Amino acid sequence: MSRLIVGRVLAWFTLGSACKLDPPELPIKAPLSKIEEMVARPKSSSKGTSRENMLDDSKSRAVFRRALLKWYDANKRDLPWRKDRDPYRVWLSEIMLQQTRVAAVIEKYNLFLKLFPNVEELATASLPAVLAAWSGLGYYRRARALHHAARTIAQDLRGKFPQTAEAWRELPGIGRYTSAAIASIAFGEKAAVVDGNVKRVVDRLLGRRLPVKEVWAHAEDLVSSKRPGDFNQAMMELGATVCVPGEPKCLRCPVVKLCTKRGNLPGGAKSAKLSKTTVFYSLDHRNGKIRLAQRSKDVSVMPDMWELPEIVVPEGATGVASPTVWLKLKHGIMATDYDVRVVRETLSNGKKPGRRIPVDQLHAIPLTGLARKILKAAQILD
Ligand code: SF4
Repeated sequence: MSRLIVGRVLAWFTLGSACKLDPPELPIKAPLSKIEEMVARPKSSSKGTSRENMLDDSKSRAVFRRALLKWYDANKRDLPWRKDRDPYRVWLSEIMLQQTRVAAVIEKYNLFLKLFPNVEELATASLPAVLAAWSGLGYYRRARALHHAARTIAQDLRGKFPQTAEAWRELPGIGRYTSAAIASIAFGEKAAVVDGNVKRVVDRLLGRRLPVKEVWAHAEDLVSSKRPGDFNQAMMELGATVCVPGEPKCLRCPVVKLCTKRGNLPGGAKSAKLSKTTVFYSLDHRNGKIRLAQRSKDVSVMPDMWELPEIVVPEGATGVASPTVWLKLKHGIMATDYDVRVVRETLSNGKKPGRRIPVDQLHAIPLTGLARKILKAAQILD
Protein backbone atom coordinates (compact mmCIF):
# COMPACT_ATOMS: atom_id res chain seq x y z
CA MET A 1 0.00 0.00 0.00
CA SER A 2 2.70 2.53 1.00
CA ARG A 3 4.69 1.68 -2.19
CA LEU A 4 1.62 2.48 -4.26
CA ILE A 5 1.15 5.83 -2.49
CA VAL A 6 4.81 6.78 -2.87
CA GLY A 7 4.69 5.81 -6.55
CA ARG A 8 1.64 8.05 -7.14
CA VAL A 9 3.21 10.96 -5.31
CA LEU A 10 6.45 10.58 -7.28
CA ALA A 11 4.46 10.51 -10.53
CA TRP A 12 2.62 13.70 -9.52
CA PHE A 13 5.79 15.60 -8.66
CA THR A 14 7.46 14.38 -11.86
CA LEU A 15 4.58 14.95 -14.28
CA GLY A 16 2.28 17.35 -12.48
CA SER A 17 3.67 20.62 -13.78
CA ALA A 18 3.68 19.45 -17.40
CA CYS A 19 0.31 17.69 -17.46
CA LYS A 20 -1.61 19.89 -14.95
CA LEU A 21 -2.41 16.85 -12.86
CA ASP A 22 -4.19 17.34 -9.57
CA PRO A 23 -2.27 15.90 -6.62
CA PRO A 24 -2.91 12.19 -6.04
CA GLU A 25 -5.67 11.05 -3.74
CA LEU A 26 -4.00 10.09 -0.49
CA PRO A 27 -5.70 8.40 2.42
CA ILE A 28 -6.30 11.00 5.13
CA LYS A 29 -3.94 9.25 7.53
CA ALA A 30 -1.21 8.52 4.95
CA PRO A 31 2.23 8.30 6.60
CA LEU A 32 3.62 11.53 5.16
CA SER A 33 6.93 11.27 6.95
CA LYS A 34 7.80 8.23 4.85
CA ILE A 35 6.73 9.89 1.63
CA GLU A 36 8.61 13.10 2.40
CA GLU A 37 11.71 11.10 3.15
CA MET A 38 11.67 9.56 -0.32
CA VAL A 39 10.48 12.61 -2.27
CA ALA A 40 13.09 15.27 -1.63
CA ARG A 41 11.52 18.60 -2.52
CA PRO A 42 13.67 21.45 -3.81
CA LYS A 43 14.28 24.28 -1.36
CA SER A 44 13.67 27.84 -2.39
CA SER A 45 13.12 31.13 -0.69
CA SER A 46 10.93 34.14 -1.22
CA LYS A 47 10.87 37.48 0.59
CA GLY A 48 13.54 36.18 2.94
CA THR A 49 11.39 33.33 4.25
CA SER A 50 12.16 29.63 4.10
CA ARG A 51 9.86 27.62 1.86
CA GLU A 52 9.74 23.84 1.98
CA ASN A 53 6.13 23.05 1.35
CA MET A 54 3.52 21.99 -1.10
CA LEU A 55 2.50 25.60 -1.77
CA ASP A 56 5.91 26.61 -3.03
CA ASP A 57 5.03 26.75 -6.71
CA SER A 58 2.42 28.84 -8.48
CA LYS A 59 0.50 25.83 -9.80
CA SER A 60 0.00 24.37 -6.33
CA ARG A 61 -1.14 27.76 -5.07
CA ALA A 62 -3.64 27.98 -7.94
CA VAL A 63 -4.97 24.51 -7.03
CA PHE A 64 -5.22 25.64 -3.42
CA ARG A 65 -7.19 28.82 -4.30
CA ARG A 66 -9.62 26.93 -6.53
CA ALA A 67 -10.28 24.22 -3.93
CA LEU A 68 -10.69 26.70 -1.09
CA LEU A 69 -13.03 29.07 -2.96
CA LYS A 70 -15.15 26.20 -4.26
CA TRP A 71 -15.52 24.89 -0.73
CA TYR A 72 -16.31 28.38 0.58
CA ASP A 73 -19.01 28.97 -2.04
CA ALA A 74 -20.73 25.74 -0.99
CA ASN A 75 -20.16 25.88 2.77
CA LYS A 76 -19.91 29.45 4.01
CA ARG A 77 -22.02 30.32 7.00
CA ASP A 78 -25.00 32.59 6.40
CA LEU A 79 -23.89 35.66 8.36
CA PRO A 80 -25.62 39.05 8.26
CA TRP A 81 -22.50 40.97 7.14
CA ARG A 82 -22.08 38.68 4.15
CA LYS A 83 -25.30 39.86 2.52
CA ASP A 84 -23.59 42.69 0.64
CA ARG A 85 -20.26 44.50 0.35
CA ASP A 86 -21.35 47.82 1.75
CA PRO A 87 -18.17 49.34 3.27
CA TYR A 88 -19.96 50.63 6.38
CA ARG A 89 -21.34 47.17 7.18
CA VAL A 90 -18.08 45.40 6.36
CA TRP A 91 -16.16 47.85 8.55
CA LEU A 92 -18.60 47.51 11.46
CA SER A 93 -18.50 43.70 11.31
CA GLU A 94 -14.70 43.60 11.19
CA ILE A 95 -14.41 45.85 14.24
CA MET A 96 -17.02 43.88 16.18
CA LEU A 97 -15.40 40.55 15.30
CA GLN A 98 -12.02 41.53 16.75
CA GLN A 99 -11.47 39.25 19.76
CA THR A 100 -15.17 38.39 19.85
CA ARG A 101 -16.98 35.22 18.82
CA VAL A 102 -19.27 35.29 15.77
CA ALA A 103 -22.24 34.08 17.83
CA ALA A 104 -21.85 36.99 20.26
CA VAL A 105 -21.57 39.53 17.45
CA ILE A 106 -24.64 38.69 15.33
CA GLU A 107 -27.30 40.12 17.65
CA LYS A 108 -25.24 43.23 18.49
CA TYR A 109 -24.44 43.84 14.85
CA ASN A 110 -28.12 43.82 13.83
CA LEU A 111 -29.10 46.03 16.76
CA PHE A 112 -26.27 48.50 16.10
CA LEU A 113 -27.29 48.82 12.45
CA LYS A 114 -30.88 49.55 13.46
CA LEU A 115 -29.69 52.39 15.71
CA PHE A 116 -26.96 53.68 13.39
CA PRO A 117 -27.78 52.52 9.86
CA ASN A 118 -25.03 54.51 8.14
CA VAL A 119 -21.85 56.41 8.85
CA GLU A 120 -23.62 59.78 9.06
CA GLU A 121 -25.98 58.52 11.80
CA LEU A 122 -23.04 57.07 13.69
CA ALA A 123 -21.03 60.27 13.35
CA THR A 124 -23.83 62.44 14.75
CA ALA A 125 -24.65 60.09 17.65
CA SER A 126 -23.31 60.84 21.12
CA LEU A 127 -20.47 58.68 22.45
CA PRO A 128 -22.57 57.40 25.42
CA ALA A 129 -25.27 56.26 22.97
CA VAL A 130 -22.65 54.38 20.91
CA LEU A 131 -21.13 52.81 24.03
CA ALA A 132 -24.59 51.78 25.20
CA ALA A 133 -25.23 50.03 21.87
CA TRP A 134 -21.84 48.34 22.18
CA SER A 135 -22.50 47.23 25.74
CA GLY A 136 -21.94 43.50 26.15
CA LEU A 137 -19.30 43.19 23.42
CA GLY A 138 -16.43 44.35 25.64
CA TYR A 139 -13.18 46.02 24.55
CA TYR A 140 -14.85 49.43 24.47
CA ARG A 141 -11.84 51.10 22.90
CA ARG A 142 -13.12 49.63 19.65
CA ALA A 143 -16.43 51.51 19.97
CA ARG A 144 -14.69 54.79 20.80
CA ALA A 145 -12.36 54.40 17.81
CA LEU A 146 -15.29 53.45 15.55
CA HIS A 147 -17.17 56.58 16.60
CA HIS A 148 -14.07 58.75 16.14
CA ALA A 149 -13.42 57.25 12.69
CA ALA A 150 -17.08 57.78 11.68
CA ARG A 151 -16.72 61.49 12.50
CA THR A 152 -13.52 61.67 10.44
CA ILE A 153 -15.22 60.02 7.45
CA ALA A 154 -18.38 62.14 7.73
CA GLN A 155 -16.62 65.46 8.28
CA ASP A 156 -13.06 65.34 6.88
CA LEU A 157 -13.76 62.91 4.02
CA ARG A 158 -17.28 64.26 3.35
CA GLY A 159 -18.87 60.86 3.80
CA LYS A 160 -16.61 59.12 1.28
CA PHE A 161 -15.06 55.88 2.53
CA PRO A 162 -11.36 55.23 1.93
CA GLN A 163 -10.95 52.70 -0.89
CA THR A 164 -7.54 51.17 -0.19
CA ALA A 165 -6.06 49.33 2.76
CA GLU A 166 -3.40 52.01 3.06
CA ALA A 167 -6.02 54.77 3.31
CA TRP A 168 -8.11 52.81 5.84
CA ARG A 169 -5.08 52.56 8.10
CA GLU A 170 -5.14 56.32 8.53
CA LEU A 171 -8.33 55.99 10.58
CA PRO A 172 -8.44 55.32 14.35
CA GLY A 173 -8.73 51.68 15.39
CA ILE A 174 -7.71 50.28 11.99
CA GLY A 175 -4.55 48.16 11.77
CA ARG A 176 -2.99 45.95 9.12
CA TYR A 177 -5.50 43.12 9.45
CA THR A 178 -8.66 45.27 9.55
CA SER A 179 -7.59 47.58 6.72
CA ALA A 180 -6.82 44.61 4.46
CA ALA A 181 -10.07 42.84 5.37
CA ILE A 182 -12.20 45.90 4.57
CA ALA A 183 -10.32 46.82 1.37
CA SER A 184 -10.41 43.27 0.02
CA ILE A 185 -14.04 42.52 0.90
CA ALA A 186 -15.64 45.89 0.12
CA PHE A 187 -13.36 47.15 -2.67
CA GLY A 188 -11.74 44.00 -4.14
CA GLU A 189 -8.17 45.05 -3.35
CA LYS A 190 -5.70 42.18 -3.43
CA ALA A 191 -4.64 42.47 0.20
CA ALA A 192 -4.03 39.44 2.40
CA VAL A 193 -5.21 39.08 5.99
CA VAL A 194 -3.71 37.18 8.90
CA ASP A 195 -5.65 36.58 12.08
CA GLY A 196 -5.43 33.73 14.57
CA ASN A 197 -7.42 31.41 12.29
CA VAL A 198 -5.32 32.14 9.21
CA LYS A 199 -2.10 31.68 11.16
CA ARG A 200 -3.20 28.28 12.44
CA VAL A 201 -4.16 27.14 8.92
CA VAL A 202 -0.88 28.32 7.37
CA ASP A 203 1.21 26.80 10.17
CA ARG A 204 -0.44 23.43 9.66
CA LEU A 205 -0.30 23.63 5.88
CA LEU A 206 3.44 24.16 6.15
CA GLY A 207 3.92 21.79 9.06
CA ARG A 208 5.49 24.10 11.62
CA ARG A 209 4.82 27.16 13.73
CA LEU A 210 6.00 30.17 11.78
CA PRO A 211 6.84 33.69 12.92
CA VAL A 212 3.90 36.00 12.16
CA LYS A 213 6.00 37.88 9.60
CA GLU A 214 6.41 34.69 7.57
CA VAL A 215 2.70 33.90 7.80
CA TRP A 216 1.94 37.32 6.29
CA ALA A 217 4.38 36.59 3.46
CA HIS A 218 2.70 33.25 2.71
CA ALA A 219 -0.78 34.77 2.96
CA GLU A 220 0.22 37.44 0.44
CA ASP A 221 1.49 34.76 -1.95
CA LEU A 222 -1.72 32.78 -1.58
CA VAL A 223 -4.42 35.45 -1.78
CA SER A 224 -6.55 35.35 -4.93
CA SER A 225 -6.28 38.33 -7.26
CA LYS A 226 -9.74 37.66 -8.74
CA ARG A 227 -11.66 37.20 -5.48
CA PRO A 228 -9.45 38.53 -2.67
CA GLY A 229 -12.31 39.31 -0.29
CA ASP A 230 -13.89 35.87 -0.67
CA PHE A 231 -10.48 34.22 -0.42
CA ASN A 232 -9.67 36.00 2.84
CA GLN A 233 -13.04 35.11 4.30
CA ALA A 234 -12.58 31.52 3.12
CA MET A 235 -9.23 31.22 4.90
CA MET A 236 -10.77 32.52 8.12
CA GLU A 237 -13.85 30.31 7.66
CA LEU A 238 -11.63 27.26 7.19
CA GLY A 239 -9.82 28.08 10.44
CA ALA A 240 -13.07 28.74 12.29
CA THR A 241 -15.00 25.67 11.16
CA VAL A 242 -12.59 22.96 9.90
CA CYS A 243 -8.97 23.66 10.80
CA VAL A 244 -10.07 24.42 14.33
CA PRO A 245 -7.90 24.70 17.45
CA GLY A 246 -7.18 21.32 19.01
CA GLU A 247 -8.01 18.51 16.63
CA PRO A 248 -8.71 19.79 13.09
CA LYS A 249 -11.40 18.11 10.96
CA CYS A 250 -9.06 17.05 8.17
CA LEU A 251 -11.57 14.62 6.70
CA ARG A 252 -13.71 17.63 5.74
CA CYS A 253 -10.85 19.84 4.60
CA PRO A 254 -10.90 21.03 0.97
CA VAL A 255 -7.11 21.45 0.87
CA VAL A 256 -6.06 18.26 2.64
CA LYS A 257 -4.06 17.16 -0.40
CA LEU A 258 -1.87 20.24 -0.09
CA CYS A 259 -1.43 20.11 3.67
CA THR A 260 1.86 19.05 5.20
CA LYS A 261 0.66 18.37 8.75
CA ARG A 262 -2.91 17.06 8.47
CA GLY A 263 -3.36 17.38 12.19
CA ASN A 264 -2.52 19.53 15.15
CA LEU A 265 1.00 20.84 15.66
CA PRO A 266 2.63 19.84 18.93
CA GLY A 267 3.38 22.40 21.65
CA GLY A 268 2.30 25.96 21.21
CA ALA A 269 1.96 28.85 23.55
CA LYS A 270 0.29 27.96 26.78
CA SER A 271 -2.44 30.36 27.70
CA ALA A 272 -1.45 32.67 30.50
CA LYS A 273 -2.80 31.64 33.86
CA LEU A 274 -5.53 33.97 35.08
CA SER A 275 -5.10 35.58 38.46
CA LYS A 276 -8.07 35.23 40.80
CA THR A 277 -9.72 37.83 42.91
CA THR A 278 -12.98 38.27 44.80
CA VAL A 279 -15.08 41.40 44.39
CA PHE A 280 -18.32 42.50 46.08
CA TYR A 281 -21.04 44.65 44.51
CA SER A 282 -24.13 46.18 45.98
CA LEU A 283 -27.48 45.63 44.28
CA ASP A 284 -29.95 48.31 45.31
CA HIS A 285 -33.12 47.74 43.28
CA ARG A 286 -36.32 49.44 44.45
CA ASN A 287 -39.38 51.06 42.90
CA GLY A 288 -38.31 50.37 39.33
CA LYS A 289 -34.90 51.99 39.84
CA ILE A 290 -31.41 50.66 40.31
CA ARG A 291 -28.37 52.34 41.82
CA LEU A 292 -25.39 52.57 39.50
CA ALA A 293 -22.04 54.34 39.75
CA GLN A 294 -20.18 55.86 36.83
CA ARG A 295 -16.51 54.97 36.44
CA SER A 296 -14.08 57.85 36.26
CA LYS A 297 -13.28 59.16 32.80
CA ASP A 298 -9.58 58.98 33.72
CA VAL A 299 -9.31 55.22 34.25
CA SER A 300 -7.76 53.22 31.43
CA VAL A 301 -10.34 50.42 31.55
CA MET A 302 -13.95 51.20 30.61
CA PRO A 303 -13.83 54.95 31.41
CA ASP A 304 -17.21 56.67 31.91
CA MET A 305 -19.14 53.42 31.92
CA TRP A 306 -21.75 52.51 34.52
CA GLU A 307 -21.54 49.66 37.02
CA LEU A 308 -23.01 48.52 40.31
CA PRO A 309 -21.33 50.21 43.30
CA GLU A 310 -18.43 48.14 44.57
CA ILE A 311 -18.25 47.29 48.27
CA VAL A 312 -14.87 47.09 49.93
CA VAL A 313 -14.76 44.00 52.15
CA PRO A 314 -11.55 43.25 54.06
CA GLU A 315 -9.96 39.97 53.03
CA GLY A 316 -11.06 37.14 55.32
CA ALA A 317 -13.78 39.26 56.94
CA THR A 318 -16.14 37.31 59.19
CA GLY A 319 -19.12 38.03 61.45
CA VAL A 320 -20.74 41.44 61.09
CA ALA A 321 -17.95 42.54 58.74
CA SER A 322 -18.95 39.82 56.29
CA PRO A 323 -21.93 40.84 54.11
CA THR A 324 -24.68 38.36 53.24
CA VAL A 325 -24.11 37.30 49.66
CA TRP A 326 -27.27 37.10 47.57
CA LEU A 327 -25.76 36.06 44.26
CA LYS A 328 -22.43 34.58 43.14
CA LEU A 329 -21.02 34.46 39.66
CA LYS A 330 -17.74 34.25 37.77
CA HIS A 331 -16.41 36.85 35.40
CA GLY A 332 -13.17 36.78 33.44
CA ILE A 333 -11.66 39.97 32.10
CA MET A 334 -8.13 40.98 31.11
CA ALA A 335 -6.20 38.05 32.61
CA THR A 336 -8.20 38.10 35.84
CA ASP A 337 -10.80 35.63 36.97
CA TYR A 338 -13.27 37.47 39.21
CA ASP A 339 -15.25 35.67 41.85
CA VAL A 340 -18.19 38.09 42.00
CA ARG A 341 -20.40 38.35 45.11
CA VAL A 342 -23.53 40.46 44.97
CA VAL A 343 -25.10 41.84 48.15
CA ARG A 344 -28.65 43.21 48.21
CA GLU A 345 -28.67 46.57 49.89
CA THR A 346 -31.00 49.54 50.19
CA LEU A 347 -28.78 52.45 51.05
CA SER A 348 -29.45 56.15 51.18
CA ASN A 349 -27.88 58.55 48.70
CA GLY A 350 -25.54 59.78 51.41
CA LYS A 351 -23.94 56.37 51.90
CA LYS A 352 -23.31 55.25 48.35
CA PRO A 353 -21.80 56.70 45.23
CA GLY A 354 -23.75 56.94 42.01
CA ARG A 355 -27.43 57.49 41.48
CA ARG A 356 -30.65 55.59 41.05
CA ILE A 357 -31.61 55.09 37.42
CA PRO A 358 -34.98 53.85 36.11
CA VAL A 359 -34.66 50.28 34.83
CA ASP A 360 -36.41 51.21 31.57
CA GLN A 361 -33.57 53.65 30.82
CA LEU A 362 -30.76 51.14 31.25
CA HIS A 363 -30.68 50.37 27.52
CA ALA A 364 -29.56 53.95 26.84
CA ILE A 365 -26.52 54.07 29.09
CA PRO A 366 -23.19 52.29 28.63
CA LEU A 367 -23.08 49.47 31.17
CA THR A 368 -19.94 47.44 31.82
CA GLY A 369 -20.14 43.80 30.76
CA LEU A 370 -20.10 42.69 34.38
CA ALA A 371 -22.94 45.05 35.37
CA ARG A 372 -25.00 43.69 32.46
CA LYS A 373 -24.21 40.13 33.52
CA ILE A 374 -25.29 40.76 37.13
CA LEU A 375 -28.50 42.53 36.06
CA LYS A 376 -29.34 39.63 33.76
CA ALA A 377 -28.62 37.08 36.47
CA ALA A 378 -30.90 39.09 38.78
CA GLN A 379 -33.55 39.07 36.02
CA ILE A 380 -33.62 42.87 35.97
CA LEU A 381 -32.46 42.90 32.33
CA ASP A 382 -33.49 40.42 29.63
S1 SF4 B 1 -5.73 19.08 6.35
FE1 SF4 B 1 -6.27 19.38 8.48
S2 SF4 B 1 -4.52 20.43 9.39
FE2 SF4 B 1 -4.35 20.66 7.16
S3 SF4 B 1 -5.35 22.61 6.68
FE3 SF4 B 1 -6.87 20.99 6.45
S4 SF4 B 1 -7.92 20.86 8.45
FE4 SF4 B 1 -6.00 22.01 8.75
